[in-house]
Amino acid sequence: MKEARFGTKSIWAGEKDQLAFGATQVPVVHSVSFGYDDMDEWYDVAIGKKPGHIYGRNTNPTVQAFEEKIRVLEGAEASTSFSTGMAAISNTLGTLLFPGDRVVSIKDTYGGTNKIFTEFLPKQQVEVVLCDTGDHEAIEKEVAKGCKVLYLESPTNPTVKITDIERMARAGKTVGATVVVDNTFATPVNQQPLTLGADLVIHSATKFLGGHADALGGAVCGDKTLVESIYHYREINGATLDPMAAYLLMRGMKTLKLRVDQQNKNAAEIARYLQTFDVVDAVFYPGLPEHPHHDIAKQQMTGFGGMLSFSVKGGVETVRDLLPKLKYANRAANLGSVETVVGPSRTTSHVECTPAERAAMGIPEGLIRYSAGIEDIEDLIEDLAQAFQAIGQFANS
Ligand SMILES: *Cc1c(COP(=O)(O)O)cnc(C)c1O
Repeated sequence: MKEARFGTKSIWAGEKDQLAFGATQVPVVHSVSFGYDDMDEWYDVAIGKKPGHIYGRNTNPTVQAFEEKIRVLEGAEASTSFSTGMAAISNTLGTLLFPGDRVVSIKDTYGGTNKIFTEFLPKQQVEVVLCDTGDHEAIEKEVAKGCKVLYLESPTNPTVKITDIERMARAGKTVGATVVVDNTFATPVNQQPLTLGADLVIHSATKFLGGHADALGGAVCGDKTLVESIYHYREINGATLDPMAAYLLMRGMKTLKLRVDQQNKNAAEIARYLQTFDVVDAVFYPGLPEHPHHDIAKQQMTGFGGMLSFSVKGGVETVRDLLPKLKYANRAANLGSVETVVGPSRTTSHVECTPAERAAMGIPEGLIRYSAGIEDIEDLIEDLAQAFQAIGQFANS
């Protein structure tokens, strides 16, 4: 039989081995410990000679089903999981980087990731070089000087900038760097970094993978030897994914393709619609032909994602008037959920920055991040129309 397609795999992958009592759904195994009457068997499981579980900080059947599902969807050799996306990122960097090492990345990584680069790694004598996002020549130049890790994210938060993953992975390979890509925004539905040459893919499963904003989690997928060393770091340092969260994330992942397909469509329509308002001075979406890296996005993504942002004239004042008028949007810091979520970048992803710092990063004070949900597009458009109308603005058709 042919290999199953993506949507089918997202439903079936990882579950069969964990079922018990004829149940068709994976059980949530809350037990912290797993007992053995046979001391030899216990020993064999403990040293990894036999499959099985010993203690919940290391492995758990429900968590294993989640790990297997994301492994299959990213087409990876191996995968492991974490309590949050940030744990996935910090444990990965903690495994790979030692004093004296050098890491090259971009300025527009997720806020927490940026803090690891600017606040924590330098304290451990790791040299961090952050290049302008989208400046491929600059990244290549820095990578060529030698680095242990090349860390990328594409599209980025909040202005959805795109990095050419294949080209950067090639640059990383030449100097023997481990190439890591945070694929949270794209999801494996739209982009599969391992097929583009990355060694490791990271997810905040809290976002699109779970998709319902009701569970935190993270994952790392990729090369088996690398993933095993990151798993070892995590089992000792303890940022383990909770079984209940693993179950919720896995249940969400069964509808990942349906949701992301709808979010791709909704975001594209909303991006185009927003462009028809005079009060909107910029719309950022990789699916728009005028996006500076639309061509690269088209090359490496099969869909442009559910995330977009736009800036409004009048800055903070306009944002303060407009956002409360929306009926079908949570004003919140998360993204990738079935509900539409909106928020000003100055309160969410870049709250730690000063206005001057945000300006330097190309983030206007009137920038609004929009995470398209799976609502009917007509309702989202009508909702935007009434919200703009309430502040005296109308679409030019
Ligand atoms: C949210 C997010 C993270 C961090 O994930 P948490 O689950 O909140 O720890 C990392 N990267 C990106 C791109 C994110 O959006």
